[in-house]
Amino acid sequence: MHELAITQSVVDMVAERTVGRQVSLVRLEVGRLSGVVPDAMEFCYELLIGGTALEGSTLVIEQTAGSAHCRSCGRDFAVDDLILLCPCGSADAEVLAGRELRVLSVELVAEPCA
Ligand SMILES: [Zn+2]
Repeated sequence: MHELAITQSVVDMVAERTVGRQVSLVRLEVGRLSGVVPDAMEFCYELLIGGTALEGSTLVIEQTAGSAHCRSCGRDFAVDDLILLCPCGSADAEVLAGRELRVLSVELVAEPCA
C-alpha cells in the first residue's frame, strides 16, 4: 500500500511548513492517473496525524480527471485509468493531465490574540 508512504510525506511536509501551528484542514489535488486511491489515503491520514500538528484535521481530496494526447490521430481524449487507449485504437499516447499529487491549500487553527 504505497498510499502510506505518500501520505506520510504529505503529513511531514505540511508539519514542516507550518512550524508550530495547528492545522485544521489539508486540501490535496490527486489526479486519477496518480495511482493513489483516495479512500486508502484518507485511512492512512487518520493513522498518521495522531501526535502531529495535523491531529484532528480534515483531509479533503479533490480528484482531477486524466487526459491524454494521441500521437497517431492527434486528438486529446479522457483517461480514467492507467490504460492509455485512444478511441482510434492506438495506445501511442502521452498523458497531459491526471498525474498530479499536490497540496492545494492548508488551513490553520486561528491563534488566540496575544
Ligand atoms: Zn488516436
